Amino acid sequence: MMTNKRIPTIGKGLAPLPLNRRDIRLDDAFWSPKLEVLRTVTIKDVFDKFEKSGALANFDRVAQGQRGGHQGPPFFDGLVYETIRAASDFLAAAYDVQLDARLDGYISRIGAAQAAVGDGYINTAITLACPEKRWGAQGGDQLWSHEEYNAGCLVEAGVHHFRATGKTSLLTLSVRFADHLCAVIGPDPRRNIVPSHPLAEEALVKLYQLLVDAPDLARTLGCRVNPREYLRLVRFWMDHRGDHQERISFTEYAQDHCSLYEQPEAVGHAVRGMLLYAGLAALAAEEGSSRDYTTLHRLWRDVVERKLFITGGVGPIKEYEGFGYGYYLPPTGYIETCAGVGLAFWASRMHQLFGGAEYLDVYERVIYNNVLAGISLEGNRYSYENPLYSQGSMHRWDWHGCPCCPPMLLKLFAEMPQLILTQTGTDIYVNLYIGCKAQVSLPAAHVNLGIETHYPWDGAARITLHPEEASTFGLCLRIPRWCRTYTISVNDKAMRKVARTDGYVHIKRLWHDGDQICINLAMPVERIIAHPFVNGLRECTVIQRGPVVYCLEGVDNPQVADPVLPPYPVFAYEFLPGLLGGVVRVTTQAADGAPLVLNPYYTWDNRPIPKEHDWLRVWLRQQDWYTLRSELDANPRKAWGQTLYQPIPSCPPL
Ligand SMILES: [Zn+2]
Repeated sequence: MMTNKRIPTIGKGLAPLPLNRRDIRLDDAFWSPKLEVLRTVTIKDVFDKFEKSGALANFDRVAQGQRGGHQGPPFFDGLVYETIRAASDFLAAAYDVQLDARLDGYISRIGAAQAAVGDGYINTAITLACPEKRWGAQGGDQLWSHEEYNAGCLVEAGVHHFRATGKTSLLTLSVRFADHLCAVIGPDPRRNIVPSHPLAEEALVKLYQLLVDAPDLARTLGCRVNPREYLRLVRFWMDHRGDHQERISFTEYAQDHCSLYEQPEAVGHAVRGMLLYAGLAALAAEEGSSRDYTTLHRLWRDVVERKLFITGGVGPIKEYEGFGYGYYLPPTGYIETCAGVGLAFWASRMHQLFGGAEYLDVYERVIYNNVLAGISLEGNRYSYENPLYSQGSMHRWDWHGCPCCPPMLLKLFAEMPQLILTQTGTDIYVNLYIGCKAQVSLPAAHVNLGIETHYPWDGAARITLHPEEASTFGLCLRIPRWCRTYTISVNDKAMRKVARTDGYVHIKRLWHDGDQICINLAMPVERIIAHPFVNGLRECTVIQRGPVVYCLEGVDNPQVADPVLPPYPVFAYEFLPGLLGGVVRVTTQAADGAPLVLNPYYTWDNRPIPKEHDWLRVWLRQQDWYTLRSELDANPRKAWGQTLYQPIPSCPPL
């Protein structure tokens, strides 16, 4: 059971904690089949492909004391650990004897490699190719070697594997490496090394949290350092970005151009940035200061108000997989799957640090659109880039020389159910409308809770509460940012006055066994336009319904060349259970009367398409765009303010 002893009190009171993965069972028409594909197809596919490309054999070579012959990029070790982390979360949700045994086999090979090196360090690329270049010594290339990244992935996998299985086999290896990091990196006489590719920051916070939750564990594992040392190392890393004494600068590319606390905006490699900020949020939840909170708020606002694609993706620049300047959001942008995953992790950490639904709005946007598009419906083809425009050049791949995205995506979706509900000890937050059965332990009561819904195709959800005995607590229902009208009833009685703060409706009362709360979020088809500063999207709109962004593909619209929407199109929509795994399809007419057929963006490129119809559009040309926008601009209640995307009116002004 999660304990509340670490909950920080930040302005708004208690911050919310996610549920333990074991305490929530998914039962959802949309997500259950998808997660089952990930568990039964993708995990196996990814492990098989790693084995085939030599990622596991690298550990064997190190264990056998060989030199040379490393296969794949230097971060292969980390990708294997990431897949073990994801597989562990799936094991926690549903035990699978074969998967458990497969993980045991990998862990013993990793352990043999670590034992052969002897001091807790593992990085197969460095050990096989250039052991004298550890941590950038002798001209080693830290930007490329990913030593801290691999270490972080191992630490995190160990924590997740232990939480899922109760086994200490991988966690022991994690602790050895973490102790080694603490011995080598830090203030004088240790070395000024910061992760060129972040991830270890959040990982060490997780390890610290585990050892605080289970104080006897450190002794069992033979920890050589006090677990607080892990937090100190993370703080050292945060404090020493931009401090280039006795090391080279990783520049803006790796957010190392100046002190993190002074960085005015999100720059550089987007995945590195997202994981760095997630790490800072994780650290701040343990020992935050106003400097951390200000930094996090500043960077968050920069990303969500100026650098977020409509699908929740980030990072338009292909050359360095990174951020551009503000409002540079071209439909041909790079938009890497890993960057979207990183943003979702950061959003989750921000919610846990500060509370509030705005972080879940971003989380929801990115999981239903950008990240889901990163994998085929069959679960065995993947993408780096998730463009919003294609003329036939972009398709998912079977595998890749740099297969970073599949493990990242697996980690996110394996963990996602934990965020459906969070709790502060006094309130239960319903963050995501996803069908499930869960148990939540509040000091006041142990509550079993069920959510039934057909989201994201329908905005209705029914929540049934089963407190062990009648108890008073708060139930907080998230009102998504896309939703403009909604109704709520408790035991069939409509609630007329509902208080709404931080994006949630709070209902505090004495709850009885069987109480039912129904929420209905109106989910019309809408056209969205981007902020006037987004030059590349002038005269364009996107079609969205609820959290789902729609796209036009040539395969459904063979007669259409360059669609233009009329000022006030009429939309129809229908749930088609046999189409693309079951989707709501939207239809309308172009300005020239041609029928247009739209499907959810995440489903694109899942059907064989003749070459001449191999195209994709997310942003559609819009007739009378300036007039439509001026209606919006003229309405002071809908002034742009900090908003990056807004719906335009569906009918002319009276
Ligand atoms: Zn990637």
